[in-house]
Amino acid sequence: MESLRLTRRNFMKLVSAMGASAFLTTYKADIVKAITEARDYWHIAWLNGGACTGCTISFAQASNPDLLQVLTEITVGNSGLPIVLPDYMETIHIASGTLAEGLKEKWKHGNKGKRILVVEGAVQDPGYCIIAGKDFRDHVVEAAEVADAIVAVGQCATFGGIPAAKPNPTNAKGLSEFLKEVGINKTVINLPLCPVNGEHVVITLAAVIMGAIPELDEYGRPKMFFGTNMHYELCPYRPYYDKGQFIEVPGEGEGCKYKIGCKGPITWTDCPSRKWNGNTSYCVEAGAPCIGCSEPGWPDEFSPFYNEVPSLVSAVVDPTKLGTGIFAATITGIGVHAARRTLKGGKGGEEDEQ
Ligand code: SF4
Ligand code: SF4
Repeated sequence: MESLRLTRRNFMKLVSAMGASAFLTTYKADIVKAITEARDYWHIAWLNGGACTGCTISFAQASNPDLLQVLTEITVGNSGLPIVLPDYMETIHIASGTLAEGLKEKWKHGNKGKRILVVEGAVQDPGYCIIAGKDFRDHVVEAAEVADAIVAVGQCATFGGIPAAKPNPTNAKGLSEFLKEVGINKTVINLPLCPVNGEHVVITLAAVIMGAIPELDEYGRPKMFFGTNMHYELCPYRPYYDKGQFIEVPGEGEGCKYKIGCKGPITWTDCPSRKWNGNTSYCVEAGAPCIGCSEPGWPDEFSPFYNEVPSLVSAVVDPTKLGTGIFAATITGIGVHAARRTLKGGKGGEEDEQ
């Protein structure tokens, strides 16, 4: 069967309509072909700030397409040059010292084509993260000023993540917030999760290179990855929830993880369908509750991780609308009983308490 030609017009439509995993499985070869035919050279600088480097590891494990394929097969036109090989990526490139810094300078000023800035890690107050004698903040500002597209990968770079958890001694924050503070008004594509899903990175870079900028939600997250509620729309354990079959101890027994703190009802992400490590498994399937790492306000607003959702939120609204800012603006003090009832009731909250 002849495959549908991928264009910038149908790229996002297909991802949204099929779900990102099915899209990748079906169109993997077409993605590679479409990127190969992109008109511009795209140069990537991947900067690391306050983080654990887990997102780099996750990116390196992306399986659709896998990193080896990205590095060796996806080339610009007939040039033979890899299109998404980062020009600068301090944790994995071979260069070090002045040679590495030279690559960064070349990315900023020396190359033809367009530039994608990828940032991993939170931005902290001056003095907490120094690279090559220069504050990470300055590295970010200089790179953001010349970037044609900016992608923040992982919880730390998007919303501050663990470095920004209370008491946040370094005043860590996400990239978008930092850029606003310093007066750089450019769109940041936010790819949260802790760590970022490598396939989210690869698809997003592919989309940007093709000129198909993803539609973003109000937190800058691509809707194609973060537009569905885990509990109400994706979770394979939902039948257990509906039957009232819950597990009481992480990793033991079969059932829904709600009573051990699953934050699925207040989490918008495609983790159940995308999974990790070649679509092998994800947190809930591995026996743990989802702790909501795709959301702004994490981890503080989602702690304690092993407490039920209604005991965390002092009130709740229609769960289908929580993605518009669960902890930011909508909590008004309705109480645990109402919260539980609303959460049990799904989209409308009509179902009676059992
Ligand atoms: S509470 Fe968690 S494990 Fe249970 S159905 Fe919802 S998302 Fe799935
Ligand atoms: S399942 Fe939940 S905790 Fe696990 S990666 Fe996805 S959003 Fe984060």
